[in-house]
Parts: sequence; C-alpha cells; structure tokens
Amino acid sequence: MNKTNYIFVTGGVTSSLGKGIISASLAKLLQARGYKVSIQKLDPYINVDPGTLNPYEHGECYVTVDGAETDLDLGHYERFTNQPTSQANNVTTGRIYSEVINKERRGDYLGETVQIIPHITDEIKNRIKHLAKENELDFVITEIGGTVGDIESLPYVEAVRQLKWEMGNQAMVVHLTLIPYLAAAGELKTKPTQHSVKQLLQLGVQPDILVCRTEHHLNMGIRNKIALFCNVETTSVIESIDTDTIYKVPILMQEEGLDTEVLRKLNIKDNRKTVLTKWDKFLNRLKNPTHEVTIGLVGKYVELKDSYKSILESFIHAGAENLCKVNVKMISSENIDDENVEYMLKNLDGVLVAPGFGNRGIDGKIIAIRYVRENKIPFLGICLGMQCAVIEFGRNVLGYEDAHSSEMNSRTNFPVIDLMEEQKNIDNMGGTMRLGAYSCQLIEGSKTFDAYQKQDIEERHRHRYEFNNEYKEKYTAAGMSIAGINPKRDLVEIIEIPDHPWFVGVQFHPEYSSTVANPHPLFVDFIKAAKDKN
Ligand code: GLN
Repeated sequence: MNKTNYIFVTGGVTSSLGKGIISASLAKLLQARGYKVSIQKLDPYINVDPGTLNPYEHGECYVTVDGAETDLDLGHYERFTNQPTSQANNVTTGRIYSEVINKERRGDYLGETVQIIPHITDEIKNRIKHLAKENELDFVITEIGGTVGDIESLPYVEAVRQLKWEMGNQAMVVHLTLIPYLAAAGELKTKPTQHSVKQLLQLGVQPDILVCRTEHHLNMGIRNKIALFCNVETTSVIESIDTDTIYKVPILMQEEGLDTEVLRKLNIKDNRKTVLTKWDKFLNRLKNPTHEVTIGLVGKYVELKDSYKSILESFIHAGAENLCKVNVKMISSENIDDENVEYMLKNLDGVLVAPGFGNRGIDGKIIAIRYVRENKIPFLGICLGMQCAVIEFGRNVLGYEDAHSSEMNSRTNFPVIDLMEEQKNIDNMGGTMRLGAYSCQLIEGSKTFDAYQKQDIEERHRHRYEFNNEYKEKYTAAGMSIAGINPKRDLVEIIEIPDHPWFVGVQFHPEYSSTVANPHPLFVDFIKAAKDKN
C-alpha cells in the first residue's frame, strides 16, 4: 500500500472497557494479513510521561527499548504484535503543551496568539502523522485515552475530527462503548451507547464502527437498534463479549468481522481469509495445561493488579510455553514478618520479588528472600527485587549487619546497592533514570545463560541504583555469583546463587519484553523450575 490509513479508537460510557486490547487485537488481525501496523496511545493527562506517577494512578509504567516511560497499554501492543514501540507511540497532553510552549518561547509562532485550535491540535496531528512517516506504515491505530465527553480529551477529539475531514476515506473512527445488562429488567440496554455516540456527534465526529462491550450476546434486534440510533450499518456493530483471557479477543474480533469491516470502510479490497495459526497454538497450550504451580508475587502495590501488568502477562506466556497453569498469589510485603513468613510462603512453588521504589515494604521483601534462599524455593528478583536479594545476602550470609541500598539508608555502613555515578548530580525526577535497553554479557554456565542460550542480550532498565562493585569479591567468595555484566560500564546486571535450585536476580525488567510470540526465557525457566519443584 502506498498510503497510510488512520484508525482512531475512542471510548464512551465508562473507562476500562479495554480500548487497548481492542486496538492491539485489530493490529494483530491486520498484521496477520501482511500489513505494517503500529498503535499509538494519546493520554489526556498533563504529566509529560507516566514515569512520575504512582502505579496506583494508572497502573504500571511501561518502558520501551528507546527508554520512554509510557502507558501500560503499550505493553499490550508489544505483547500482541511482537513489535517494539517507542516514545512516538505514547503522547500525553503534558508533552504536547510543553512542545508548543517551547516553540512559542523560541519564537516559532512570532506574532501569533497561541491557541488550542490550531496550535495544540496541529501538534497532536503532527504526532499522529509522524508515527506513520517514520515507519512507512499501512495503518496507524491511534487510541485516545479517557472517555468521550471528558474535558481533557476535547483537543484530541477535535484533532480526530480535522484529520477525518482532511483525509476522507483514509481515516475512520472505531468507538468502543458499553451495553449494560440490567438484571432486574432482564435486558441489555443501548441508551448509554446512544448517548456516547451523541457526545461524539456534538463534537463533529461520526463513528464508523461501534465495538460494544457486553456480558451477553447481542441479538440482531439489538444490533439493528444500535445501528439505527447511531447512524452506522448493522455490520458495523461489533460485539465484544467478556472473555476469560484477553488473548482470545483477536479471535473473537475476527469472528465478529472487525478487520473486514475496517478494510471495507477504508475502501481496501482484500478478500483473504486470515489464519492466526501461531496465536491459536498459544491459546491451545494456554487452555490445556498439564501442570499447575502457584507463584507468590511479593510487592507493595498488590491491591491493584495493573501495577504489575507486564509481570502477570509474562507468567501467562511462560505458563503456556510450559503447559503449566500459573496461579499468582499477590502478597503485600508490608504484611510479611519473621513470624509469619513460613506460613505465607511455604506452599508456594516460586516467589517473585517485584520492582519498586522507596522504603515501604522493604523489610518484608528481605525476609521473604531469606526464606526462599534458605528453603530452596525458586526465586526471581526484578530490579528492586534483585537489589533486595543482594541486601539480604549481605546481611545474613556475609554478616554485614546494616547492609542496605543507599536509596533506603544513606548512612549504612555497607552500601551494597549504591547510586550510579551519573545519577549523582541529577535534580529533575522525570525521565532521568537509567532507562531503556542496555546490553548485557552473560556468563556461560549460569542459569541465565541456560535460559537465553546465548551470551549477548539486551534488556530494558528503569533504575537509579546498582550493585556496588566494591563488594563484588566478597559476594562471589561467599556463594553469590555474578551472571551478567554490562560490558561498557562494568555494571552487575544479574546475580545468582549456584547452590540453589533456581535463584536469579536481574537489575533489568524482563517482563517488558515477553510477548505471545516470544515468551521471555527467564520467565519460562522460572516457571519450569517451579514446576520441577513439585
Ligand atoms: N528503586 C530502585 C532503583 O531506582 C529500583 C527500581 C526498580 O525496581 N525499577 O534503583
């Protein structure tokens, strides 16, 4: 195709309808037809990126290869399409405004009054077109965050209106809504959908396709009614029924004909019947496990599952690879103490200690790690989880009584985890961590090397502190091995305990790069070790 087509995905009625999953599923279906697709998320908040947000606000902060701190939906995009995203795939209102204000200060608009229309909307449109241009795409799917009618999303909807007008049938809108079921009336209700489409119409945007989230199947009567009231064809009313796994959504969307409808609306002739062979194979493995394990996820944001989204999804990929159902028990590290640790962890097949920042819940993480180290329970520590493993080993094996990370205790006698040199003069908190993909050299014979089956890897980082190399010799002499090093800077990226069935701590975030097509090797081997423990 020599032109890019633009698909905008908006949401109405309520948040959390799964716009990200629908966008990722549509991308998957178009990709299966051989098209080049990328998905972009526009977030209406004023933070420049979600890096400074508490996970309780919008869930996990997802990090791309190029080091952008982004919305967790980008994780879904990568997991579904198996393609890397970048900073260009996530734009926030904060980023748009700071760019426009910078241009104003530079004098780019000299003489003009700088306004939401056209300056902010032009900047939004540029970001959308830029993604297409950079990557020579057949399709850009742009997901507009928030719900139609929110004050914050008005400039985005206006940008969509303008682009739709400029591009004619090269652009279209998929609107996601909710069809609630009223148990008392025993009926599905279409009115909220009608109202949310009216909201869009008031802003000058006629949706082309409605994807209707529902707990019950939509019969022809309901589909015709929605079509009539919302000015769409009946074939453009797509049912999105609740399902037990998000990974079934591409198949459900294919059955409902979302991709064929999109192509028809964009006047693209394509009668191919696509088959998602690999995807089906994955679903089959997921649905027919021969084993079952329970993994404890020890962290401090356990009340909100979205805080650990990529970790939970990585378990699903690794579970399918091992034909093993993975039950995850979320354990708040604040609730773990010396007395109850055995009760809390003894029946688990593996323990993952999560990434994080700050002092809250640190003691429980260290106590949990001591228990799994001494009781030979498979362990994976990610970022802060790896740092806690180093602290625990320092205190309980090497006898460094107050060993700590200088993040938690700047006056410790044993700063076994310390601030990285280049972090020492940093004042701004936003976007200044060690971010994005860095290379790591694995040591042959390590568990990590066994997992990856190669020496040179690249993994994504998001941290300010690191293993303090002054302690390297003491640690290795006492039985903790260094299994991976950043060759340029001689940074310790992986620690292991060889005299343990499976004890691995990584300074990077393997969870960001696990996809359906490529389950992450460390998660795969961690689940394998948990399975073998039984
Ligand atoms: N707080 C730690 C650091 O900045 C770990 C960060 C993380 O777990 N992502 O080094």
